[in-house]
Amino acid sequence: MSNAKLIRLERVAKDYRMGEVTVHALRDVDLEIAAGELVVLLGPSGCGKTTTLNLIGGLDKPTTGRIFVRGEEISAMDEKALTLYRRRQVGFVFQFFNLIPTLSACENIELSLALVGGDGSLRARSAGLLNMVGLEDRCDHFPSQLSGGEQQRVAIARAFANHAGLLLCDEPTGNLDADTGQKVLGVVQRMNREKNATVVLVTHNTAISAIANRVVHLRNGAIDLIEENDQPKDVSDLAW
Ligand code: ADP
Ligand code: MG
Repeated sequence: MSNAKLIRLERVAKDYRMGEVTVHALRDVDLEIAAGELVVLLGPSGCGKTTTLNLIGGLDKPTTGRIFVRGEEISAMDEKALTLYRRRQVGFVFQFFNLIPTLSACENIELSLALVGGDGSLRARSAGLLNMVGLEDRCDHFPSQLSGGEQQRVAIARAFANHAGLLLCDEPTGNLDADTGQKVLGVVQRMNREKNATVVLVTHNTAISAIANRVVHLRNGAIDLIEENDQPKDVSDLAW
């Protein structure tokens, strides 16, 4: 397979069995994402956005089909390999931030840094990551002492701790007011443009899709349409 694409889904299907009933969450999805792209997965609740993101992130496995990331077939990995894959190659940003409440902002990031390994003082590195999201003065704050938008920016810094440059964001602004959400999206866009992060951003908000290089419309577990966008908007120009 070509290495040009960072992510490749080949006829990926995901079924969930609920007792007697089978939910077809994804139906034979083919999708390729290049390094450095900002791709929005757009669609109504239940269309399969989170399922797609979780499969790319190695949180779950497809029922059928294959998924390659950086040329490696993650759909064929055992649990141990998948754990390392998630730790080293993926950064997750969730709707509800998912910071550890008993750890400070810096410590939340340091936990990820420690899992990844590497040289240099953890504090210097976590402080550097916080600086990247404009929160250098919040190192010692606990999540309860941060606003929602600040918590989400810490989560973005944490997602970058492995420097893998792949951010998987599931409704990252879903729990934020419009102004705060815009600020958080601004950070995501900056990571994409300045740090060359590849971003897969899940949302049901059509307005947000204007910042994407490509918009993948999902409906009923299938790709309905892929829109290319030569001139993604600046987050600051979004109206929502
Ligand atoms: P979205 O993120 O677009 O709202 P999801 O990917 O979460 O959609 O879900 C797609 C479909 O799969 C939905 O019908 C949902 O109810 C179902 N589903 C998702 N996760 C599970 C699960 N763990 N068990 C059973 N059904 C699930
Ligand atoms: Mg979802």
